[in-house]
Amino acid sequence: MRRRTRLLAAALIFGSGLAACGHPAMNSGDVADAPQARLEALTAADARVAAVAWKLARANADLCPKSRLRVGWTLQSASQYGSELRPLAEARYGLDGDLPGVLAAPPGSPAAEAGLAPGDLILSVDGKALSRGGASSSGSYEGLEANIAHLDALAARGPIWLQVRRHGVERRIDLAPTLACAYPTQIEVTGTFRSHTDGRHIFISDRMVEVADDDDQLAFVLAHELAHAVLEHRSQPDVTGSPGQTNQRITLNRGLSLRAEPDADHLGLFLLARAGFDPYRAVDFLTRYAEVNPAARYPQANAGGIYESAPARRRTLEPVLADIAARKAAGQALIP
Ligand SMILES: [Zn+2]
Repeated sequence: MRRRTRLLAAALIFGSGLAACGHPAMNSGDVADAPQARLEALTAADARVAAVAWKLARANADLCPKSRLRVGWTLQSASQYGSELRPLAEARYGLDGDLPGVLAAPPGSPAAEAGLAPGDLILSVDGKALSRGGASSSGSYEGLEANIAHLDALAARGPIWLQVRRHGVERRIDLAPTLACAYPTQIEVTGTFRSHTDGRHIFISDRMVEVADDDDQLAFVLAHELAHAVLEHRSQPDVTGSPGQTNQRITLNRGLSLRAEPDADHLGLFLLARAGFDPYRAVDFLTRYAEVNPAARYPQANAGGIYESAPARRRTLEPVLADIAARKAAGQALIP
């Protein structure tokens, strides 16, 4: 249940986001598969999401209000797992306490190019040991989060070197971070259809990942959230004057939120096209989304915003797709 832990931590820290893009219906709550199968499925989904998110973050660094030097990895720790999955994760990835282990190193990322791969445990950075934390902590994300913040801060300044352990053997890894949008992406195990951003991270639920048949479709979901972040919807002041303290009344009263969703769809298509994904697959995604989630066939208004139906979104995308195709054909820059 590690991502529940991660989800709970995120919810406590950041609260609910303005840009919560999904329909909360059909909560299956069905995560009763065998532990080993759950771990394998989560790992595969993590690798997929990390790869697509990294391509989007790299290709759009010039448009993101928050960008920094990054290495592109997704990290995990033994301590973030609950008691059921922890022994399995420790055995499979060589994890130890709060020390960060590589969960995904996307193709083309500095992490992958330096030779990092799942199963690598990071012991130290620039010669200084990372914190292993207390031995008894379980189902806690805080220790790993502190180590990640330390690694991110050093990488943001330039090259770093790590001492890494793989299968009991230690070696040195040199990393050359590259500029990318600074919104790390996480999977939430919720059993619902949901993706959202708090303006600092991008979150996508396990079921939303499953809806996306291929990486082009997954890119549509992640690029939509990246667009919310680029447009800084989460940090727009609401009627109380404080950023992000949105609620349903405010959402219904403010013109901003009426435009937020179509604007995110519009910019999202450009962001994914800039990263080399096929924007036309967004249409297929919305068709499939409405098939698997009946709530998406109708407009919705909830605390997260106002959402058009999937068929209406599909129609709204058509002129944007034509615009992108025309710009590509004319050799013009893909900037909306
Ligand atoms: Zn949205």
